Amino acid sequence: MTPLHPPTRRTFLGTSSLAAAALALRGRVSAAEPAPERKLGIALCGLGNYATGQLAPALRRTRHCELRGVITGSPEKGRKWAQDFGFPDSHVYSYATMSRLIDNPAIDIVYVVTPNSLHPEHTIAAAWAGKHVICEKPLANSVAECNAMLAACRANRVKLSVGYRLQFEPHYRELKRLARGGEFGPFGKLTGGLAFTINRRVWRVEKNMAGGGPLMDIGIYCIQAACMAADTSGANHATFAPVAVQAREHPKKRPDFFRDVEEGIDWRMEFAGGVTGEFSTSYNAGLDRFRAEAANGWMEFAPAFQYGDLRVTTSRGAPVVGEIPPSQQAVQIDDFARCVKEGRESPVPGEMGRRDMVIIEAIYRSAAENGRRIEVRI
Ligand code: NAD
Repeated sequence: MTPLHPPTRRTFLGTSSLAAAALALRGRVSAAEPAPERKLGIALCGLGNYATGQLAPALRRTRHCELRGVITGSPEKGRKWAQDFGFPDSHVYSYATMSRLIDNPAIDIVYVVTPNSLHPEHTIAAAWAGKHVICEKPLANSVAECNAMLAACRANRVKLSVGYRLQFEPHYRELKRLARGGEFGPFGKLTGGLAFTINRRVWRVEKNMAGGGPLMDIGIYCIQAACMAADTSGANHATFAPVAVQAREHPKKRPDFFRDVEEGIDWRMEFAGGVTGEFSTSYNAGLDRFRAEAANGWMEFAPAFQYGDLRVTTSRGAPVVGEIPPSQQAVQIDDFARCVKEGRESPVPGEMGRRDMVIIEAIYRSAAENGRRIEVRI
């Protein structure tokens, strides 16, 4: 496994002349924010299903950034992407050569879309190449890894965000507005779940790659929604969290398939002020729903977590949220590009990804200890 501590200058840069050039470039990257009208360059790290099916089309829509490079294990695939998106072959990197991004001023941001276990390695490499990073969810497979990623980004004065696309989706913005204690009063009871069936042996059911089962992959959406709905400050604090959790793993119907990850899990989140959340996730069922109830009304999402076409109702009818953008991902990526351009903190910073890992570790611990109540300490 690749070490999570920052590489030394020697191992990272190889030669001292490169090191000097890198330091000069690093200074330029972090000191001078680009002019607002300039489109930033993004490199996608990992060209699998999500990168191909969602992020690539989104990057044809973004207004503040564009795809200018890729990091892939397949040079052939990389050249095809270069052709399709009109960037030079020299902007195709392998995972082993991504440190050379430091020499490429056309790339400002690396978007890490590899399997979960590789997020730390790739995020840290990008940070040490002086690039801002969007990393897919879950940020990493442990809080310790999240800490290392945050430290690397801090050390290199680059921003880190997590691919939490729903944070920017208009219905979830409305959920956050209502959470401030608007028309319905503060939400007190939160329920929901996300589940689908996996039958093929993929990295998502391998603990060493995925970090866990459906909780890591899709249950995390319920954690996100619950924190949005319970945060009555409306400030979407990156470290806003439940005070405690309790969890029970589902008995395995296919123990041979789900060897070292949970097949499903139910958990309870207890927030300050008596707000509760009850959620379920599984790789052996079908479920996609989130509901937030307050004294004077409710809001329900079903489906709740899809890329588009969320169905949302409230006790007062359909919420008025304005136009639904055609790509959640384009909005999310553009927001981060603007944060970089304007020198602002992302509303979805790495700290939020770390918070969710603290919650997930507490949920797993509770499940391992027969549902014992575990306090959450961010
Ligand atoms: P995928 O398996 O389709 O793609 C993973 C990519 O990583 C592939 O191109 C693969 O070649 C590459 N890779 C590099 N090293 C690898 C290795 N050692 N083993 C396996 N693959 C390796 O996965 P995906 O569905 O695209 O998911 C990638 C990431 O994106 C995950 O972290 C996932 O949680 C996240 N994701 C997020 C969303 C969202 O809505 N935000 C949706 C889907 C996936």
